[in-house]
Amino acid sequence: MTDLLKQTDLCVKCGLCLPHCPTYTKTRNEGESPRGRIALIEGLAGGRLALTPRLEAHLASCLTCRACEDVCPSGVHYGTIIDAGRALIKSQREQSTREAAMYGLISRKPLLRFAARLLRFYQRSGLQRLARVSGLARLAGTGRLDALLPPLPPAPAWQDYYPPRGEKRGTVALFTGCVAEVMDTATLSAAIRLLTTCGYGVHVPRTQACCGALHLHNGQPAQARQLAEKNLAAFAALKVDAVISAASGCGAQLAEYDQLIADDQRTRSFAHSVQDISQFLAGIAWPEDITFSPLLKRVAVHDPCSLRHVLHQQAHPYTLLRHIPGIELIPLPGNAQCCGAAGAYMITQPALADSLRNDKLEALKAAGAEILVSSNLGCALHLAAGLRESGTDVEVIHPVTLLERQMRVIK
Ligand code: SF4
Ligand code: SF4
Repeated sequence: MTDLLKQTDLCVKCGLCLPHCPTYTKTRNEGESPRGRIALIEGLAGGRLALTPRLEAHLASCLTCRACEDVCPSGVHYGTIIDAGRALIKSQREQSTREAAMYGLISRKPLLRFAARLLRFYQRSGLQRLARVSGLARLAGTGRLDALLPPLPPAPAWQDYYPPRGEKRGTVALFTGCVAEVMDTATLSAAIRLLTTCGYGVHVPRTQACCGALHLHNGQPAQARQLAEKNLAAFAALKVDAVISAASGCGAQLAEYDQLIADDQRTRSFAHSVQDISQFLAGIAWPEDITFSPLLKRVAVHDPCSLRHVLHQQAHPYTLLRHIPGIELIPLPGNAQCCGAAGAYMITQPALADSLRNDKLEALKAAGAEILVSSNLGCALHLAAGLRESGTDVEVIHPVTLLERQMRVIK
């Protein structure tokens, strides 16, 4: 508790972060601002405030986008403070059955894979269409989750190791994630093909687990640490140049394992080895026999908060996509503001999540882009669901999936 109070004490309440906070901008409520939330956590941790549903709601509505942390002149570590504040709340109340089931599912890959099998049957048997048309999904309280669900790809069968093409330039390990492993096999396969074509051997450790970001932001640091330990053990034996993440939300969490499990050389070296796939590919020398087919389209680039405010690697998707001749790249206007996905937020806080998403969709429409690229799966699912709902025909994909699609190797 003393540590948390030391951190909240760094906030001098200047309010310079307020105009950068999406929830404050939307509500103009001090309790929905970084400064207000820090004051609430300070009061709760110091015993001056009691836990009330209102206080809990103010902390729950934070996106953990960390735009405030990026602009704070006093160096306040807002991300650490909000995670600790939520853990404090969790320690004072029971977890609901629904919450326990959801977080239990993403912690266990065999269970998640089984759930994915059921979902594939649900989609392919016509049950999904029936549930949507009849309104059953909405009545069962799963309408929102159902709307987010993309058509699931076939179950992946990853190899433990993918050898490089031609002369070996190095070796990396790929972090596959939990939801991404069953929903975004296209991005993971594209990452493997790009890396091996560039001369890198790719390990895909079987025993890796969810990164733990959702648990940490939900006030469950002990569960997040357990998952981190599993990942540290899964990657420990490998001698690699980098641990690559293809979803920036997971990458941001992996790169902060040294803060989750502090004072440990093991976690420091792991955290320093983590790179976003775009960062890694933008930093290597590409073999001269690789070329790219032209793409005469306008492509909007969405900067996920995890890539922009946490990893600070948002320039790399642009660098990579500029390899494609004829492509017209534009930053999605309003990129500094969160899209509202924010992990589980798009499910738990639908009103604010949709309002923030609408801003993005309006900006996208005005920009006239035909493709939207995003480096984080959660953001891509949330934005794609909004586009589907509005009947807008814009493809949403990961930048490296687009890059791989255009890649050609000169024989
Ligand atoms: S978090 Fe930083 S910018 Fe915001 S009020 Fe506190 S000191 Fe000022
Ligand atoms: S993390 Fe984002 S939503 Fe939360 S207080 Fe900071 S700027 Fe606002």
